[in-house]
Amino acid sequence: MMLSTGIGVLTSGGDAPGMNAALRAVVRTALSRGVPVYAIYEGYRGMVEGGDRIRPLGWDDVGGIMHRGGTIIGTARCREFRTREGRLQAAANLIARGINRLVVIGGDGSLTGADTFRREWSSLVAELVETGKLSRDTAAQYPFLALVGLVGSIDNDFYGTDMTIGADSALHRITAAIDALVSTAASHQRTFVVEVMGRHCGYLALMGAIAGGADYVLIPENPPESGWEDRMCTLLRAGRASGRRESIVVIAEGARDRDGNPISADYVRRVLEERMGEDARVTILGHVQRGGTPSAFDRWMSTLVGYAAVEELLSATPESEPQLIGMRYHRITRQPLMYCVEQTQQVAIAINSGDYQRAMELRSGSFKEMFQTFQALSSALPGVTRARKSRIALLHAGGPAPGMNTAVRAAVRLGLNQGHTMLVVRNGFDGLIAGEIDECEWQAVDGWGAMGGAELGTSRRVPAGEDLAAVAQALTAHRIDGLLIIGGWNGYQAAHRLYQERATYEPFNIPIICLPASINNDLPGSELSIGADTALNAIVEALDRIKQSAVAVRRTFVVEVMGRYCGYLALMSGMASGAEQVYLHEEGITLDNLRADIQTMIEGFRHGKRLSLIIRNEYANRLYTTDVICALFEEEGKDLFDVRRAVLGHLQQGGSPSPYDRIQATRLAARCIHFLSEELDRGTAAAAFIGFVNGKVRVFDLGELPHMVDATYRRPKEQWWLELAPIARALAQQKYDTRGA
Ligand code: ADP
Repeated sequence: MMLSTGIGVLTSGGDAPGMNAALRAVVRTALSRGVPVYAIYEGYRGMVEGGDRIRPLGWDDVGGIMHRGGTIIGTARCREFRTREGRLQAAANLIARGINRLVVIGGDGSLTGADTFRREWSSLVAELVETGKLSRDTAAQYPFLALVGLVGSIDNDFYGTDMTIGADSALHRITAAIDALVSTAASHQRTFVVEVMGRHCGYLALMGAIAGGADYVLIPENPPESGWEDRMCTLLRAGRASGRRESIVVIAEGARDRDGNPISADYVRRVLEERMGEDARVTILGHVQRGGTPSAFDRWMSTLVGYAAVEELLSATPESEPQLIGMRYHRITRQPLMYCVEQTQQVAIAINSGDYQRAMELRSGSFKEMFQTFQALSSALPGVTRARKSRIALLHAGGPAPGMNTAVRAAVRLGLNQGHTMLVVRNGFDGLIAGEIDECEWQAVDGWGAMGGAELGTSRRVPAGEDLAAVAQALTAHRIDGLLIIGGWNGYQAAHRLYQERATYEPFNIPIICLPASINNDLPGSELSIGADTALNAIVEALDRIKQSAVAVRRTFVVEVMGRYCGYLALMSGMASGAEQVYLHEEGITLDNLRADIQTMIEGFRHGKRLSLIIRNEYANRLYTTDVICALFEEEGKDLFDVRRAVLGHLQQGGSPSPYDRIQATRLAARCIHFLSEELDRGTAAAAFIGFVNGKVRVFDLGELPHMVDATYRRPKEQWWLELAPIARALAQQKYDTRGA
């Protein structure tokens, strides 16, 4: 009986990029399970108004929407839904459509409203029966309303999920804006005060400030102590004195002082003008932050939570508490909806009552950590001096990855801050052997946070044989006490070799740490490596363009992406762009697969499909190359569709690092410097590699490296994202027998 009832989905409150990807996933997951699904247009207003504001959606209705910002089903504020009258009407409208399950995508207001509605449901149904608007028999089929919430909010202000839908895209907008302002500000030696969104949440301001390399940040959760105006001016003055040409102050719209008085962007500007004689300008980013195409992360994350929302609804019983589906550490999580809403509201309550310590405590651990890191990085000059100065060398090894420069900037400054002498090595181990080593000062890395590529240069050389003695000699000659290798697979191999040869070469007995930087995301001990998010965004943007180039014909695109033997970029870009098929080395390609895929494609085009996107990892199969696959498709597709290939190549390695890569590069660099400092203080010489495991920074002993990797295919033995492949496929491949469900 319950199976015939449908799912309703609405977006409510502020719109957020990624809502469309969530909608697509909700609709297609429901359809693939044979459950009818309805869009409720214009949020709760549509639910109260009913009629054609509630319409069934088919598989193709949600095709080609993932790259679009905002929400295609609209959102609105609705006063009536705050009244029982309004909700009574809404219940009648849902039942008229056979809906008793809801996915609500919105902020805390929307989710609170949904929960009120759910709790009232049986009394609303009873009232409809009493007033003769509903028959007893029909009412009996709708004993409860199942509810699940997804958080759509650019502010990232929600308990129960690491990231809300839209926050990463907003950060992309903010970071791009700050980058642009930095270049003009530097030309005129100007100061910009940049106001970003966030009434009770400083996430966008803080992360934007870190990603943009700003000088000062003001957030609601941690107001500055009184006298902050003077301290801010002193800091900016010191920055200028040490050679900075521009200053950027980022302020959240909800910033306030310790007494709870709002701090406006204009007030900051006046302070700068009056106390520093600065030509300061204010830029309020406003709704630009909300709009625009969703980032790769907002597409794949929203896809996963949309999928999980339907799975959750389909297993709901009258007793089950509504859940909030979120992401923690790249995994889907579910937690009681109202608990999350309450915890979220606690932050605003704490801020409004001046309990800032509690407000900071309610934020995640990494938020506090990042606040401290920002303060250390933005102080214009090194803070600490040590009695015993150590010399730490930085070098790259392996392919270039966006975010390497960001990591170098953070490591140099945080190292200097710890009182170390920081040395930079040019061109990896080649440069180390050739003695291309310089001392690096604070200002030398100014502006590096936003730069793509690898300013220091890198090489793929893994020292072996005679090299080892040369490396030992260089380490001795330059009195290097500690080594930070920011790089990919070859960097890890090199570090491991030095570690193994410690008995032979005394100079290798220094603390060594590797920071994962590779677009391939093929490094052990880290769920993500620096550069992978930027590469993913580059691929997804390229795929958007490729898809747009085929408007009028029936066409299959086969796109080859990088990753060596690691399928991360292929799978995640496939999921973020709705590719029908993704070929990975981890899963292999067989003739049977190809045959089935051709069949699916033919079926699709016969049913009116116009475009098919296939992604192939560059090393997916030695013999079934991109050309071979294209030839097969072409021959079998004949008159039905044509085939084009695109090999994306090196555009995937370039580009300014994404906000996520900048933030994580900074976070990891801070931990690496901390690790080296501790080792040097203790006089020990651990060798390690660092990374994210379950979202937390973890340090592994280099000795573990061989046990954690598949040496033949140069990738980690465990890859968390592989289990997402079936979901990506299920949402892209229509099963025609369930059509019109
Ligand atoms: P957000 O969901 O982004 O926090 P709002 O707080 O404006 O945005 O909520 C959006 C809509 O959700 C409101 O216009 C209203 O229809 C509904 N809503 C919000 N709070 C409640 C509530 N307490 N009870 C019923 N409906 C609510």
